[in-house]
Amino acid sequence: MSGGSASQLSLFDALNGAAPMTIRRSARARRLSVRVHRNARVEVVAPPRVSERAVRQFVDSHRDWIDQRVRQAQRDAPPPTEFPPREIALPAIAESWRLHLSGGTGRLRLRSASAGVLSIGGVCRADAPGDRAAAAELKRILRSWLMRRGRDLLQRELAGVAARTGLRFARISLRRQRTRWGSCSACGTISLNVSLLFQRPQVLHYLLLHELTHTQHMNHSKRFWQAVERHCPQWRSLDRELLAGWRQVPSWVFD
Ligand SMILES: [Zn+2]
Repeated sequence: MSGGSASQLSLFDALNGAAPMTIRRSARARRLSVRVHRNARVEVVAPPRVSERAVRQFVDSHRDWIDQRVRQAQRDAPPPTEFPPREIALPAIAESWRLHLSGGTGRLRLRSASAGVLSIGGVCRADAPGDRAAAAELKRILRSWLMRRGRDLLQRELAGVAARTGLRFARISLRRQRTRWGSCSACGTISLNVSLLFQRPQVLHYLLLHELTHTQHMNHSKRFWQAVERHCPQWRSLDRELLAGWRQVPSWVFD
C-alpha cells in the first residue's frame, strides 16, 4: 500500500513500551485493523478519517489479542545472531561448519566446503556496517550451500527412517520456507524444510516419521497418531519442540 503515512502512537504506551506500535493511515483501508509482525512490531492500519480516539478504543478492545501475538512473536523470533556467523551448527545431522572468509579479489564465492570449513573467497566486507550488498551476497551463497547440504543429508535421513519403519516414499523435495516443516502429497512426494537441519536429531526423525506415516494416513486421525506412536512413543513432546523450533533457525536463512 503506497501513500500511507506512519506515526508513532506514543500515547498508547503499548505493552509497557516493549513493542513499538505504529499507526498507518491508508486511503484504501475500509476499517481498522491491527497486525503483529514477526519482529513483534505492532501496526494499526486506519482509514483516513477515523479519529485517534476510535483508534485508541480499537487497540484497547484488542489488547489481549495483541499482547498474546506479541509474546508469541517474541518467543518465535530467533535470538539475534551475528552476521556473518562464525560457525554454522547443524545439530540434526551432527555437523558444525566454521566460516572462513579467505579474502582475495573478485566476487564472493564458495571456494570449498570440507573438513568442517566453509571457505569463501572474494572481496567481503559483509561484517562492515552498511555494506548490505556484501551481506546479501554472502547470505545467498550460504543459503544455496545449505540447500545442497540439506538435499543430500535429509534424503539420507529420510531413507533411513523409511528403511527402519518399512514406510515408503516416492521422492523428496526440499524447501526453504517459514510456514511449515514438511508435508506429504497424495503421490508420495515428501517435502521437507531445510530448516530442519537446525533441530535436534530426535526432532528431525520425528518429523520424518510423521510425514512418512502420511503415506498411509493422509490425515491426523486417531489411527494416524497410533501409527506414529508405534515407532515414536515420545511424539507429543517432540511435536511441541518442533513447534517452537523456528527459534533454532538463524535469521540469515530467511532475511
Ligand atoms: Zn501431518
